[in-house]
Amino acid sequence: MTNERYETSKIVMVRYGELFLKSEPVKRHFIRILTDNIHRALRAEGIDHHIETPRGRILIHGSEMNRMVSSVARVFGVIDAGICDQTTNNPELLIPAAATRAKNALSHGQSFAVRVKRQLKTGPSSQELAALIGAEIQKVIPGVSVNLTHPDYELIVEIRESGGFICDYRIAGPGGLPLTTQGTVLCLLSSGIDSPVAAWLMMKRGCSLEALFVDGGRWSGSDVFSTAVENLRRLSTWCPGHPIRMQVISSERLFDAMKEQSELPKVCCVICKRFMIRAASALAERTGALALVTGENLGQVASQTLPNLATISSAATIPIIRPLITYDKQEIINLAKTIGTYSGQQGDLACRAVPLRPATNAALSDIQALEMHLNIPALVAGSLKESRSVIAMNGRIEDNGKSVRL
Ligand code: ATP
Ligand code: MG
Repeated sequence: MTNERYETSKIVMVRYGELFLKSEPVKRHFIRILTDNIHRALRAEGIDHHIETPRGRILIHGSEMNRMVSSVARVFGVIDAGICDQTTNNPELLIPAAATRAKNALSHGQSFAVRVKRQLKTGPSSQELAALIGAEIQKVIPGVSVNLTHPDYELIVEIRESGGFICDYRIAGPGGLPLTTQGTVLCLLSSGIDSPVAAWLMMKRGCSLEALFVDGGRWSGSDVFSTAVENLRRLSTWCPGHPIRMQVISSERLFDAMKEQSELPKVCCVICKRFMIRAASALAERTGALALVTGENLGQVASQTLPNLATISSAATIPIIRPLITYDKQEIINLAKTIGTYSGQQGDLACRAVPLRPATNAALSDIQALEMHLNIPALVAGSLKESRSVIAMNGRIEDNGKSVRL
């Protein structure tokens, strides 16, 4: 071993996933967007940083390593992020640096594995280097053994042109594709558990988000609007630096008109959803959103049977994406808890317009006749004309939650 001293510095290494499947120009474009989203996430938290993008990785310099890792691990497109010791790629200096890192975490009686990945194809092979580092670890930490399948401790070493990177802990990111790479969708966002999860899944897949909330006024519970705004606020923590606008329209007159007819019809919920879908389609046409998103889920309630979903879909002029269609409710709740949109308290969220026996197989012709009578196009146009909007960014509602009339 040489007596030359080795310098190590800390750096955050970010790995991204599926982008590897893309052609070179598309990959470069996506990495630029991913890097921009990482900048936005760090800036939103006031973290000073500097980013490098060597082949296949994003490296972040700065002084607040832990805060940087937690922030970056919420950026869509990121597979994982870890704090690395950056040192030289000269094996004589890298090997003791790797053993020093292991010494801080590994102790007598434990097993370990060393995984080496080389971008630089000179010097010892990955296996040779792993064996050399393993031997050095066993020399400096007595009583430790190698276990390559289920080690207590894993040391990952990457050899790149710019140096050696040593890491033993990575926080998983959400994966998916960088936000804004896939165009804009309009999510029908409610006060419920499902629609924020559906919206999050679309953001994870690279879509920018717009939202529509339909306010039932006195036909809905007193906490419905504030809970929908809270859902919006929580979603905005996932796209720092990108505002989300939620349009708010009223469906109060629709319910008033249905009530005038007689008792609320059995098909009330399907008509209500078709009203929402019509309004959302018109709004998407204005804003350029390419698809609608709902939290609908097969068989969850009467309006979500296959025949009723088909009837609801026929009111749309653009595709409806239903990311949760096959999920069990518990799976949705678990995901809502993981992403932070689940709030234990429920409040008064009841819809006062649900009929006693809602139709599970509403005939489209009956619905269309009733809709004609109700003059749905006029009701939709009227509610869109009076729409307001609420904007959320970085986990905050702009204007102290006051909605703004457009
Ligand atoms: P939960 O999450 O408890 O099921 P929900 O709001 O999803 O509540 P559903 O009747 O299942 O209630 O609604 C199905 C879908 O319709 C929602 O996931 C959402 O996309 C949309 N939706 C329902 N109510 C509204 C609303 N008031 N404004 C906008 N979209 C709504
Ligand atoms: Mg639902």
